[in-house]
Amino acid sequence: MAIKIYNTLSGGKEEYQPINSDYTGFYVCGPTVYDYFHIGNARPFIVFDVIRRFLIFRGYNVRYVMNLTDIDDKIINRAKADGVTSKEIADRYINAFFEDIQKLGVRPADVYPRATDHINEIIATIKKLVEQDVAYSSAGDVFYDVTKFANYGQLSKKKLDELQAGKRIAVDERKKNSADFVLWKAAKPGEPFWPSPWGNGRPGWHIECSVMSMKYLGKSFDFHGGGQDLIFPHHENEIAQSCAATGCNIFAKYWLHNGFLDMKGEKMSKSLGNFVTARGLMETYPTTAIRLFFLQKHYRGPIDFSEEGLNAATVTAQRLSLTYKKLKDLIPADFVPNKLEETAKIGDFVRQIQALDSDLLAAMEDDFNTPGAIGKLFDIVRETNKFIDEVAKREDANNVLHWLISKYDEYDRFFGIIDKSHAGVDHEQLDGLMQAILKTRQTLRKEKNWALADQLRDDLANAGIVLEDSPSGTTWRWQNKILK
Ligand code: AMP
Ligand code: ZN
Repeated sequence: MAIKIYNTLSGGKEEYQPINSDYTGFYVCGPTVYDYFHIGNARPFIVFDVIRRFLIFRGYNVRYVMNLTDIDDKIINRAKADGVTSKEIADRYINAFFEDIQKLGVRPADVYPRATDHINEIIATIKKLVEQDVAYSSAGDVFYDVTKFANYGQLSKKKLDELQAGKRIAVDERKKNSADFVLWKAAKPGEPFWPSPWGNGRPGWHIECSVMSMKYLGKSFDFHGGGQDLIFPHHENEIAQSCAATGCNIFAKYWLHNGFLDMKGEKMSKSLGNFVTARGLMETYPTTAIRLFFLQKHYRGPIDFSEEGLNAATVTAQRLSLTYKKLKDLIPADFVPNKLEETAKIGDFVRQIQALDSDLLAAMEDDFNTPGAIGKLFDIVRETNKFIDEVAKREDANNVLHWLISKYDEYDRFFGIIDKSHAGVDHEQLDGLMQAILKTRQTLRKEKNWALADQLRDDLANAGIVLEDSPSGTTWRWQNKILK
């Protein structure tokens, strides 16, 4: 079945028709790297990761690009505050970004272009726009003249005359029209700069994304994603610049925008101070739970950040991972599967799962309806657990179990919410081993050999095992709280 996608540009759902058969171009606006990203920023990273993975699952050869905005006022200010260069700030938070998205189970993009590596291409594009008379320079800055682009406002459904009227009060004297936006910014004293035909300066934010998306994906590509706050002006401006520069009617064909993560009804944002870093949250919650928390809601709708929601998602994700582990544990290591048809005696169960499976995939094909699909996945989990309880009475169960595992693996290729790190570990054997270690540590503590007892605890922590001391004794658990 075809995949249907809600396109912000048309305001409705459309069937996905690739622009070219070689690859599916997908560009997502990435972070401005001046600090650790917060869990609201993580929402587009996660939902577009799942959409990308589902497209790959459906057989599309996705080329996925996410830019890194490594020069910007916020980076410059942070550098000043810390007494280091803008490059040092950008490098520090780019490294942190990579660490955090890896932990979040986000598959790396094919390309992570940095704005400062593309200054020449950016200048060349701005020059073209000036030559075409859709942009003009003014005292070292270069602006895009929005009145020169007939379709300005097509994405955000804003009318140019209304935009101009609204801004009449604070007219910037350097601009021809109040809605014109900056392509090149003249450097102020002490700011980093690059030489250009208009003097020393740096690129504006919007032009970066136009230049870098088209460089890696071509003049016209399939998907462009980002948070809803980027529809206007960022994406509107990207369309104006790109279409004027290339003469193409289509810049990005489908525009996807995720809803906000709110904190008590207000958008989580750095400037409001109502944020939690993804890095901090991952210390408390397993990443599978954080991903599930987002996927339980549709990507276009709002979500309220709540500890109750995250706690519930932790329990739910744990249920899924435990069921997966149980399935794995039930199958002997040397089992060779037969064809599923040979398991006719358990056909009812298989047919039930097959029906849920097609509902799950249909939900994903309907504008990536992850809450619908996750609902079906947990119906499958419930049926799996019932089946496991009765499995001893069944014949040929291993074939079905094997098939079920392949289904769970299939879903997890796009959801990424099963913790497989402990599947395959024999829990009983491990617990036996841990009890022996705990006994040794107890003896060390009785003998007041605190140094060695603590050393043992630290070594276990490095191996991902946490010891919890209480008056009644010591227990152990995995660090990520799954599978105690
Ligand atoms: P920024 O680093 O602020 O440019 O944001 C990176 C991405 O996170 C953009 O796609 C934003 O639209 C998105 N974003 C920022 N805040 C939120 C939020 N509270 N909820 C969802 N997405 C957000
Ligand atoms: Zn962008």
